Amino acid sequence: MAFDFIEQQLQQRKIDGLYRQSQITQGQQGRYIKVAADHYLNFSSNDYLGLAADPTLIKAWQKGAELYGVGSGGSYLVTGYNQAHADLTEQLKSWLGLEAIALFSSGYSANQAIIKLLLDKNALLLQDKLNHASLMEAGSLAQCKMQRFKHNDSAHLQSLLEKQQNPNSLIISEGVFSMDGDQAPVKELLIQSKQHNSWLMIDDAHGLGVLGKDGQGSVVESGIANSELQIYMATFGKALGVGGAFVAGSQALIDYINNFSKPYTYTTGLPPAMAYTIGCAAQMAEIEQWRRDKMFELVSYFKTLAVQHDIQLGESNTAIQPLIIGDSQKALMVAEQLKALGFWVTAIRPPTVPVNTARLRITLTTSHELQDIKQLIAAISTILSEH
Ligand SMILES: *Cc1c(COP(=O)(O)O)cnc(C)c1O
Repeated sequence: MAFDFIEQQLQQRKIDGLYRQSQITQGQQGRYIKVAADHYLNFSSNDYLGLAADPTLIKAWQKGAELYGVGSGGSYLVTGYNQAHADLTEQLKSWLGLEAIALFSSGYSANQAIIKLLLDKNALLLQDKLNHASLMEAGSLAQCKMQRFKHNDSAHLQSLLEKQQNPNSLIISEGVFSMDGDQAPVKELLIQSKQHNSWLMIDDAHGLGVLGKDGQGSVVESGIANSELQIYMATFGKALGVGGAFVAGSQALIDYINNFSKPYTYTTGLPPAMAYTIGCAAQMAEIEQWRRDKMFELVSYFKTLAVQHDIQLGESNTAIQPLIIGDSQKALMVAEQLKALGFWVTAIRPPTVPVNTARLRITLTTSHELQDIKQLIAAISTILSEH
């Protein structure tokens, strides 16, 4: 039968405890999430600064719609590039110290676009093993050669760079790793890329707004200007609480995207009202330092309590705190037990993470309070001691 792999593979996922489906959430999300009729403390969102349902941003979206309408009406090169997009671009350039920017509707599409655009069959792509699926998938579909270096392992990267003879090579790493919360050694990566005449791209989806002076991200936190990288990419759907993404680099790179990137050219521009809202979110992320201060205070409290309760966490100083369980079924079971106690914590399983490293990916946000963390740690401690 044609396409009978569909049923087979779905069945297999169920057998392996790896089957996935969405849960319908109700209303806004923040400190709590409502699923069906129940409220849970929400420890699964990427809304690190608590902006996704902020009243100021809700008003901004309404005002943006009044000013610019709800849809862009076309692709960026036809009629879809509104003053709202131009204003957002200028604002991001000045906040983040970037030369030029291309907006994308999603980070997934931005990553696919860059890899397809720049890497032909003679090029080499070097990726950290734990890079996001959007980068890995694009790399394996592209014509270039792709090699993966061991996670945050500069020596391994060095050995690959020494062997390479490709005219164009690109190193890509996440700034903050999405499933582990640890950070890339950006300074070392930059030195290595320079030594080997390679380009460096950082995907800072989880660093922008969270790390660095005024939330300028992982690269700035490492003491490097964003403009020193050939490519800096980040999304608006995580700490900024909205959605969409950008790729930044030299003016020539962005002109090249405008002229040659199909995922950039042949897609409808972000709704201008949304671009306007992203601008307001970016301004809040830049100016409202208390959001970062509070989030980091919660992170440090969480880590301290975890040590006191003998709970082993991954090595992360960011909002993403992984509790590695190992077995997928067990991770699911722990997540279910937490749910029964009123905590929404997602079990992340292969293939999103390597085999035998199923985990609870706990995320802390500005919206949490100290007592939420205390309750969560007590619940985890009780559940783990029963296993
Ligand atoms: C979420 C994420 C993306 C994709 O961004 P979207 O805007 O959600 O499509 C890309 N890279 C990393 C590291 C991410 O975490």
